[in-house]
Order: sequence, then C-alpha cells, then structure tokens
Amino acid sequence: MKEIVFATNNAHKLEEMRAIIGNKYKILSLKDIGCDVDIPETASTLEGNAEIKARYIKEHYGYDCFADDTGLEVEVLNGAPGVYSARYAGEEHDSLKNMNLLLENMKSIDNRNARFRTVIALIIDDKLTIMDGIVNGEITTIAQGEKGFGYDPIFRPEGYIETFAMMSSEEKNKISHRGRATAKLIEYLNFI
Ligand code: IMP
Repeated sequence: MKEIVFATNNAHKLEEMRAIIGNKYKILSLKDIGCDVDIPETASTLEGNAEIKARYIKEHYGYDCFADDTGLEVEVLNGAPGVYSARYAGEEHDSLKNMNLLLENMKSIDNRNARFRTVIALIIDDKLTIMDGIVNGEITTIAQGEKGFGYDPIFRPEGYIETFAMMSSEEKNKISHRGRATAKLIEYLNFI
C-alpha cells in the first residue's frame, strides 16, 4: 500500500480521511512520521498556507503529502476573516470570541452572503496540485445549534434552514467545503 502524509495534528480530520480513502493509501499523520513542529502558516492565502505545510513535509521528510487550510469568506467584508478565520479575534483561537466579533462586525448589515472554502495542496513525486471545495451560504444574526465547531452556529448553507451546528456530521460532510475538497482529492488519487 502506498504511504501518504496528511499534514495535520487534528485526530478528527485524520480519522475522517482514513475512513474515506480506504485501502489504496496508508495515511500517516505528522505524529506517525515523528514531526512535532508547528509548521508556521505565514502565507496570506489559503492556497499559500496549504502549500507551505505540504512542501515542508516533502522537503524535511521526503514523503508524498497533502495539507489543507480552510477559511470563512464573507462577501461584504471582502473575504474576511478568510485565511485568518482561526485567529479573527486574537491569537488564542477562541471560537466563541471569533463568532461574536463577526456578528458584531456585521450588525445591521443586510448582505450576509458568505462561503466556507477549503484548499488542499497535494505533492506527489514533486508535482504540486491544488484543489478546493466551497459551500455558499449566509451568516445568521444569532448563533443556533450545538454541534460542530468554529463558526458552525452562525453559518447557514444555501438551500437549508438549519445552521451547520444544527446538522449531524454526516449531513454536514455531504455538502461541506471540506467534504467537497476531500471528494476531489479522492477522485484525483484514484485517477493517478
Ligand atoms: P483549519 O484550516 O481547518 O484549521 O480551519 C481554520 C479555521 O476555520 C478554524 O479554526 C475554524 O475557525 C474555521 N473552520 C474551518 N472549518 C470549519 C467548519 O467546518 N465549520 C466552522 N468553522 C470552520
């Protein structure tokens, strides 16, 4: 079985990916390859950060690799918080503070269009391929729902009355940015 590194320390993402990719690839985590570096995400785009992480692993460990980066892009805020979604309200990466700041910044704004975008950078045999997955929707005026994480309680995907935080993870994964980007990755890996 071919080995490929998923440049993440997020156990939940890793399990999800292992379950979907099945037995064509053995997915190794950063821990599996002995990498405990917090790879600095210094780019100003999602593509840039995903590429930095994938290249770091290829250069330092020699493995084929993929990495992801996700942002919530709000139309009226010119795409903010975008690449800064995790640290919108500060370096402590506090989801509640991030959500409250976004609601505050959008108070009395009618255009609530937003999208989640996940970018995956894949490096196989030194060839870089970038893929993305998008879900359009809108920012609600109040937080609703207990499930999920991050901005889920204030994001309502297009065509739904529930926020992401009101959906089961299966329901969310079917239509989510990460689900869509992952589907493209799997199609690509099955093709090569
Ligand atoms: P990451 O690149 O997957 O670590 O995502 C960066 C940040 O985007 C997270 O810290 C969350 O604030 C936000 N985010 C990413 N994916 C989701 C999601 O599915 N729902 C809600 N927020 C998300």
